[in-house]
Amino acid sequence: MTSACPLDCPDACSLDVQVEDGRLVSLQGNHKNPFTQGFICGKVRDIREHIEGPDRILTPLVRSGPKGSGQFRRAGWDEALDIVANTLGGIRHAHGGESILPFCYGGSNGYLTQGGVDARFFRRLGASRLLRTFCAAPSGRAATGLYGRMPGVALPDFVHSKLIVLWGMNPSSSGIHLVPIIKEARENGAKLVVVDPRRIPLARSADLHLPIRPGTDLPVALAIIRTLFEEGHANWDFLGKHTVEHEELRRRAAAWTLERAAGVAGINAGLLREFVDLYVATNPAVIRCGWGVERSRTGGSGTAAILAIPSVAGKFGVRGGGYTMSNSGAWKLDAAAQANEPETRTREVNMSQIGEALLNPQGPRIHALFVYNANPLATAPAQEKVRQGFLREDLFTVVHEQVMTDTAKLADVILPATTFLEHDEISRGYGGIVLHDSPATIARIGEARPNYEVFAELCRRMDLTKPGDPLDVRDLRHAVLHSDGHGGAREAQLRELGVAYPSVGPNPLPFVDSFPLTPDRKAHLCPPALDAEIPGGLYTYAPVAETPRYPLALISPASSQTISSTFGQLVKGPVPVEISPTDAATRKLRTGSRARLFNDHGEVQATVEVNPEIREGVLALPKGLWAKHTLNGRTANALVPDHVADLGGGACYNDARVEIEALPS
Ligand code: SF4
Repeated sequence: MTSACPLDCPDACSLDVQVEDGRLVSLQGNHKNPFTQGFICGKVRDIREHIEGPDRILTPLVRSGPKGSGQFRRAGWDEALDIVANTLGGIRHAHGGESILPFCYGGSNGYLTQGGVDARFFRRLGASRLLRTFCAAPSGRAATGLYGRMPGVALPDFVHSKLIVLWGMNPSSSGIHLVPIIKEARENGAKLVVVDPRRIPLARSADLHLPIRPGTDLPVALAIIRTLFEEGHANWDFLGKHTVEHEELRRRAAAWTLERAAGVAGINAGLLREFVDLYVATNPAVIRCGWGVERSRTGGSGTAAILAIPSVAGKFGVRGGGYTMSNSGAWKLDAAAQANEPETRTREVNMSQIGEALLNPQGPRIHALFVYNANPLATAPAQEKVRQGFLREDLFTVVHEQVMTDTAKLADVILPATTFLEHDEISRGYGGIVLHDSPATIARIGEARPNYEVFAELCRRMDLTKPGDPLDVRDLRHAVLHSDGHGGAREAQLRELGVAYPSVGPNPLPFVDSFPLTPDRKAHLCPPALDAEIPGGLYTYAPVAETPRYPLALISPASSQTISSTFGQLVKGPVPVEISPTDAATRKLRTGSRARLFNDHGEVQATVEVNPEIREGVLALPKGLWAKHTLNGRTANALVPDHVADLGGGACYNDARVEIEALPS
């Protein structure tokens, strides 16, 4: 049987599923999605441990002990749904719909399990709306502001590039299918540049590595832009024909010499000079901009500046030339077509500030939280506030989840959720440009249900169902696949190929096959809408304050063991914080030492790993860790402030500034 991976990863692998008596026997990649080339990552290859493991939630559970005690009793679906429906109904009646907040993020990128029937339910309740900002909010605003939702260079086309720049992106951990493509391109003579504070695996063999300080991408990108303009390497033909506001971009970059930017970024200016020379001299050149860039106070402007570079240099128009960020803009499908209910204008709550919203709300107090496809205790900034918020006695929390996460332990009612192999799903890649239609392949475990069934049933119990609502999963699927008016052709393609492509095909060439989806079809290099969002304007560098008390930047990059926090229960043992040899020596730390990382927001106790691949002044503790992975049950997010990025209200995970010292033995 075939399926596809809808997890939060750019690649969207197509899968072969071996099943016996409804149980998963094995999972491997197939070639229906040509980009993923028949192989998958180890995280999903071992998914049976997740599906059938001891942490799997098998029945609805109702809290039976004090909040956060982890004590639950089993309940039937009827009882659990009655509790949820009656409690939400009572809260809505007493405090209004906006006192209810849905909370979902990234546990599934499927069209059927996010933004469809759930949207119908919460819209009809008049619930508050969630601003989904953990990832891709600043970069999404930047990419949309500059280029509309134009897809960038298709990842398979990197094989044609002669210069590949990985900026804030580590494909060895996430989005692994780019690795063999880069390898092939390099065998064909391509050069590789990596911009990252760590010497990630691909940086070890790269032609150039820029180990810039976290959060300094903006001055570095502006300095590159300034140099391109000042040294006669701007492509005026391209700028004149395909862009506007390039003079304003030039003016805003003017103060950033290579030397000044290198000083801010903590690297030798000669490295930036090498970068510019290589970039100017090499065609086709592509910049793969990752999501590491956006995770700081000026991450939106930083992303915008990076994406502007290929326009200034005129690198588009050839296969393998330009940039790639997210390619989700290739699709115009709308999950909300299943909702059969227009969007409301209720209060918005930024998920990156969920702790603050629970403790000190702007507007109505939140009395009920419904968490699905998310584990905010592990993934939200300001972890102490989040924990305190979830522990509020007057907060009613429902968690629809597959395994017993840190968040589920704080719930009042837990509802067991299916994994993607147990329910029907439609999903698309945001790296590889492909759409999958995947029926369930294995039997449901325990009493697990997909959220589209749960929300439809809650609508029914709360009298929120309306005539015309798509109810059956076939109706939901039809509503999504036909939501852009091209459903017939898409269904035919799915039948024929097992996957579907957008009308521009799987490999659209930017500025040849596809153009910026801005009103004038030009790239806007300093768009007024973005400008208005930032005090001081777009491209204003306002770094997080460095203090002598907290001199180290803590970053929380993706690991090769989890997808954000998904599969965290399978990661054994304490996970170490990585530190450079110089910083370790100064603090008398060694590999295996026990240490405390701290700042004014909290403290994490962890083991230490001295790693020469990380630059001085930077610590790394992976994102998505669970409480059990550190010595005191707190993870990197306990040290992350909840201020937001300059665009899109994004979380600033890389703005944590900390100190580290040995724990007394
Ligand atoms: S997480 Fe990514 S690489 Fe792994 S199976 Fe899913 S799509 Fe493929």
